[in-house]
Amino acid sequence: MRSGPARHGDGRRPRPVRDEFEHPGHVAEKPAVPVNIPKMDTPFSKLGLCDALAFTVQEKGYTEPTPIQVQAIPLILEGKDVIGSAQTGTGKTAAFALPIIQRLAGHGAMRCLILEPTRELALQVEEAFHKYAQFTDLRVTIVYGGVGYGKQTEDLRRGMDILAATPGRLLDHLEQRNCSLDKINILVLDEVDRMLDMGFLPDVRRIVQKCPADRQTLFFTATLPPEIEHLASWALRNPSKVEIGRKHSAADTISHCFYPVVASQKFDLLQLLLERTDFKSVLIFCRTRMGADRIAARLVQKGHSVGVMHSDRNQRERVEALDSFKSGKIEVLVATDIAARGLDIRGISHVINYDVPENAEDYVHRIGRTGRAHHTGEAFTLVTEDDVRDARSIERFIGASVERKKVEGFPYVYSALFDQKILDDAVPKTSTSRLHRGARR
Ligand code: ADP
Ligand code: MG
Repeated sequence: MRSGPARHGDGRRPRPVRDEFEHPGHVAEKPAVPVNIPKMDTPFSKLGLCDALAFTVQEKGYTEPTPIQVQAIPLILEGKDVIGSAQTGTGKTAAFALPIIQRLAGHGAMRCLILEPTRELALQVEEAFHKYAQFTDLRVTIVYGGVGYGKQTEDLRRGMDILAATPGRLLDHLEQRNCSLDKINILVLDEVDRMLDMGFLPDVRRIVQKCPADRQTLFFTATLPPEIEHLASWALRNPSKVEIGRKHSAADTISHCFYPVVASQKFDLLQLLLERTDFKSVLIFCRTRMGADRIAARLVQKGHSVGVMHSDRNQRERVEALDSFKSGKIEVLVATDIAARGLDIRGISHVINYDVPENAEDYVHRIGRTGRAHHTGEAFTLVTEDDVRDARSIERFIGASVERKKVEGFPYVYSALFDQKILDDAVPKTSTSRLHRGARR
């Protein structure tokens, strides 16, 4: 499923449906009493970060900066344009948020804009900025679609230094003159690969054009397809490139395997996997919105506590599902690829691909929802006869073969799936065409 803003034939964005649900956003986390910041000598201060920021991350429990942080923080502090790419879950948010907070120093005008492809990511980044900026007087606010305009307009008028936004809603506010980008001197495009996938390129271009030419621009992304390099050559000036890790690999903290099964037994196998697995919380991916609803309903019938997240759910439902999942109130979240990228939910122990992703690259993003920052995770993928080609595409994409497993005691209906030799003969190994971006079904 590709969720993107619906468009009129002439490329204009449709007027958004007005939903008066107001998400409160996050509240600034300022200490009640002034905190004496000690002199810091940590791996973070060695990167050039001030005592307050080194202290903040220490309080958050970070002891070592991640590789992308080591490389990007000094460059951003120097004022350079940066293209940072690193696997998902490797701390890209702090890699830009910490040096930005240091550069902005204190409260003034709206000087930093961070664009995010989805509402949930915008909320996540807003929350991260609130945390990292707790010992400063910087103000952070957020605008995103699917909710009422009232509170956002008030927040914008009140003024802030850092704005996290999704592109469509920001353009609406700009049209209504609720804010202006005249003073932006740091522009961040986060999760750029996803932004382009979702069809936001025209909106992003319009926003970039409204920012002063004399600015620092930062791109952060998990993958670096040629389209991003192209956009970067237009939007960035002389950028430094920081690329961490093998382009396509998932983090080493994730163990993953395929479970071959015939289509008619998929749900039964899912049910057994859930029974046999000692999971804390599990994220299940389906290909379609309807599929996600159907699986969720069947899991509820089996007594699981389940939430659903996809683009047909309204914002209130999406926020509620995500909050209940984060707080542990529900143990299973069934989602489409809207949840595949960037979402950082602590403690997801398992990802199950009920459907093989349509695009090999999404596999890496989906399973990257577990095994984040030093935690370990497991990912299972159900593979039916129809998915054999896609499964092979995934293996080619990550450059490794994925172990096929069977669940002991499951009454498997026999299929050629279980006979590797028949499969090898049936599927020529050279069928790589679907790997290319854009060649999606
Ligand atoms: P990405 O944008 O690369 O997918 P995030 O910025 O969302 O990743 O970070 C993933 C998680 O890692 C977050 O929970 C964050 O708090 C944590 N994190 C970031 N930097 C560090 C660090 N240096 N040490 C430990 N945890 C970190
Ligand atoms: Mg991110």
